[in-house]
Amino acid sequence: MIDSHCHLTDKKFADDLPEVLDHAIRAGVKHVVTIADSFIESEQGIALCHTYPQISCTVGVHPHCAGKWHRGDRERLTKLAKSDDCVRAIGEIGLDYHYEFSPRDVQQGVFRLQLEVAKELAMPVVVHNRESLEDLLAIIEDVRPPGLVLHCCTERFENVESLLQWGYFLSFTGIATYEDAEDMRETIRRCPLERMMIETDAPYLAPAAYRGRRNEPAFVREMAMFIAKLKGVSFEEVDRVTTQNAVAFFGLQNRMLSPKEDM
Ligand SMILES: [Zn+2]
Ligand SMILES: [Zn+2]
Repeated sequence: MIDSHCHLTDKKFADDLPEVLDHAIRAGVKHVVTIADSFIESEQGIALCHTYPQISCTVGVHPHCAGKWHRGDRERLTKLAKSDDCVRAIGEIGLDYHYEFSPRDVQQGVFRLQLEVAKELAMPVVVHNRESLEDLLAIIEDVRPPGLVLHCCTERFENVESLLQWGYFLSFTGIATYEDAEDMRETIRRCPLERMMIETDAPYLAPAAYRGRRNEPAFVREMAMFIAKLKGVSFEEVDRVTTQNAVAFFGLQNRMLSPKEDM
């Protein structure tokens, strides 16, 4: 298993990250992709990868931080993305009209710029969306980056089907295990395993069994089990296919723990 999306630079992991990563390995999570929300977190993520071989990272600016985007940040992002082999994607980038911490037109501009950087560098992108799907899809269709995953997808299947037609991926969090998430469960039933990744979005969104607690990469196992049940396939199948998807998407072939290191 791979936790394809979590935030290990969050201060909620500051005191016990080695234990958290140990839990993950014992739960069968072979690799973790830590996702950046800002330039500072991008740099912190790269530093984490240097300490722990089972982590890769992304660099990018979240729509919550889009208002802080400065002239020259396009070059800064390009430089960071090329600075180290542990940087495997641009993200998380996108639109968030729920919190709307930055004006919508600013979010759209910063999203588009970062998609263009990803396209120039032939890197995939990790996309965040909240109550902004129509504008998000229009910008994606316009730029068409080489690879894309819509993370924490809670949308109805027919609303995100175009992403699958464009060759992109959907990724699902523990929200699927919450009682009121029937639309999302239907999307998981209809999304082919070959187009799916699993994630925790830790420290947020712990699956129902752990709700209220800090989420952590080990709990991505819950997602694999939950999806297996939902789709009527084996846990091993969900594990194998979603791992393959994440390895191919992020280019993790040479970054996975060898069987010897894997306990
Ligand atoms: Zn997000
Ligand atoms: Zn996230």
